[in-house]
Amino acid sequence: MICYRHGKAFTHSKRYHSLTQNSFILSFKILSLSSMLQIHENVSLKNFNTFGIEAYARYFVEINHKEELQELFADIQWHNINRLVLGGGSNMLFTQNFDGLVIKINIRGIEHRINHNEVIVEAGAGEIWNIFVDYCVNWGFAGVENLSLIPGSVGASPIQNIGAYGVEVKDVFASCEAFEIASGNFVYFSNTDCKFAYRESIFKQEKKGEYIVCSVKFKLSTQANLNISYGAISAELEKQGIIEPNIKDVSKVVSEIRVSKLPDPSTIGNAGSFFKNPVISKAEFDKVHSQYPKIVHFIVDNGIKLAAGWLIEQCDWKGKVVGETGTWKNQALVLVNHGNATGKEVFDLSEAIIQSVYQKFGIKLEREVNIL
Ligand SMILES: Cc1cc2nc3c(=O)[nH]c(=O)nc-3n(C[C@H](O)[C@H](O)[C@H](O)COP(=O)(O)OP(=O)(O)OC[C@H]3O[C@@H](n4cnc5c(N)ncnc54)[C@H](O)[C@@H]3O)c2cc1C
Repeated sequence: MICYRHGKAFTHSKRYHSLTQNSFILSFKILSLSSMLQIHENVSLKNFNTFGIEAYARYFVEINHKEELQELFADIQWHNINRLVLGGGSNMLFTQNFDGLVIKINIRGIEHRINHNEVIVEAGAGEIWNIFVDYCVNWGFAGVENLSLIPGSVGASPIQNIGAYGVEVKDVFASCEAFEIASGNFVYFSNTDCKFAYRESIFKQEKKGEYIVCSVKFKLSTQANLNISYGAISAELEKQGIIEPNIKDVSKVVSEIRVSKLPDPSTIGNAGSFFKNPVISKAEFDKVHSQYPKIVHFIVDNGIKLAAGWLIEQCDWKGKVVGETGTWKNQALVLVNHGNATGKEVFDLSEAIIQSVYQKFGIKLEREVNIL
């Protein structure tokens, strides 16, 4: 078995002791803990959400090591207050100030172990998702290349089971270590424990708010088994004359497609797809299909998935500007902040879109973005 480590702040735990037989790991530096824990008051969240919406947190703390969570919650006052765990803030809409404690997760570090064709890559919850993807792609580990350039952190990836271009986190998720707020213990969740579904997991349902993900293990492969069935990927590979693509080609092409379609949050505030693609029954589909034969749809395990972007576009919302907000010119599913939008303005626009799609198609869109 080969084992490598990269990054700088995995915390010292029993579990990592078992990995320290390799000299590469022994040289890894463990940073000091408790002196760093500081609670700040009235902190602007504008730079902590990709919508770039102004809102203030009453209390704000940054967690660099998982043990700091035990230290934080040793104080009972943080059990009895509203809490919000924050990664990159790329799936959040703040509609008001947050009257509670924001816990920003910065736990870093990436390491991997190769066992024959299988690789386990473990990353700290605060690692930037795309840095983790680049790490895997550069090492030649297959499995996450279709998820290139998704904004956000590793820790948030299982929360809504992120997905793109035919791959979801559930396809590569092995387990995660999470802090259980009520008990103060660290516990593990396997893939089945997480109850993954389309943009869903146990962390958004029955265990909502109870756990903080500290690190995630992914099961990847040294043997590329590329998934290029998605039309846009195969078309772009063909356009670029790439006949036998490798992992790097797929990652590059996915990144290029994303850049061409989606607004860059560093220049125009947004949170990616604002709504989920609705999944309806065959009977419901037949009804709407007979009226709208061109409706964009995909067959999935539990029914028929409709393209929410298409539904919104048919209601003439694509590229519309409403005050400081609107929908993106190349993708109606993305709501944007044109500069000084408030969270309420964006929320009201989302409500108007839900109403008009419902009136035209009888289908109720559900928000993917977390509303606070
Ligand atoms: C331009 C753009 C494109 C996008 N494209 C996609 C896409 O293709 N596919 C897709 O699935 N998503 C996409 N998204 C949405 C977003 O990238 C993902 O939802 C991402 O996982 C959010 O990560 P984050 O760290 O920013 O989470 P945040 O927005 O900070 O948090 C999201 C949720 O996770 C919780 N959370 C965060 N970290 C932890 C933790 N360590 N422990 C417990 N709970 C935690 C938060 O409390 C919150 O409920 C896109 C967003 C943007 C801006």
